[in-house]
Amino acid sequence: MSPRPDLGPRPHLGYTASALDRAAHRRGEATALATDPRAGAYVVGGEMIVTRKREHGGDPLFALAEARALGSAREIVLLGFCDGAARFGMSVGKETVEALKGRGDFLVTDLRTIAVQGLVAPEHLPPIAEAKALLAWHGRHRFCANCGAPTGVAEGGWKRECPACKVEHFPRTDPVVIMLAVRGERCLLGRSARFASAMWSCLAGFVEPGENIEEAVRREVREEAGIVCGRIAYFASQPWPFPMSLMIGCHAEALTDAITVDPGELEGARWFDREEIALMLLRRHPDGLGTPPPVAIAHHIIRGWVEGEAGDFG
Ligand SMILES: [Zn+2]
Repeated sequence: MSPRPDLGPRPHLGYTASALDRAAHRRGEATALATDPRAGAYVVGGEMIVTRKREHGGDPLFALAEARALGSAREIVLLGFCDGAARFGMSVGKETVEALKGRGDFLVTDLRTIAVQGLVAPEHLPPIAEAKALLAWHGRHRFCANCGAPTGVAEGGWKRECPACKVEHFPRTDPVVIMLAVRGERCLLGRSARFASAMWSCLAGFVEPGENIEEAVRREVREEAGIVCGRIAYFASQPWPFPMSLMIGCHAEALTDAITVDPGELEGARWFDREEIALMLLRRHPDGLGTPPPVAIAHHIIRGWVEGEAGDFG
């Protein structure tokens, strides 16, 4: 094995390590907590996050009363507590987003851009991700999936109840496997047509009903690239609020070499050796090829393999 390249200090994985105490037992107090003058709120409008413009980026945390004054709230959910003060997520409609975009004192932009460009202080990313995912669920679950009646919000936004058939609905998180198949000194990356040009990444796909993580990893790699995998090693996971997924990062032991790309899923897939991957991580690849940025778990899974952390087969 060639010497491992020095990639420098390890970056933080985006949207993880929240400072909020979710304090689920206090969710029933959400209405009373919303009247506390210390209550703060993050304001979400679809993919957009509303921040107060600062010299560099924006401040996304508003007093709840200030947030309410920005526009009519669709939903207000209790995210948790920071230093004893309640933190809420508030969703607003497109018209509010457009009105605030037109004002010079607000920076309204999508969460991916905010995270990649570091437009807010890092401690705000996990609660914003929590707010965005939970509010996205509310936006798509206003009616009972059992009987079709309009549902109402309960438990500070952590439940919807159907007044007609009495069924309770809970916020969901969709599990996605994201994996790096490795074979000796090489690993498999693919690129989707929607990627920025020259970016290559891990393969990924939703876990299907009746599958475990290992089975989903093997199926996705086989479907997308025609590669058969054996052993699977869990690496790390990441909340991914686009709109409400949990990325489950793994390394997979590839047992075959010949790639057959599914053109419906990928624009291309190929093997890369460690040296080439290191250059991509360091943004020094001679052809400008790159990996996803450190905010995404794909970056960490790929780096983990370069640094020798891909289970006992990597
Ligand atoms: Zn119902």
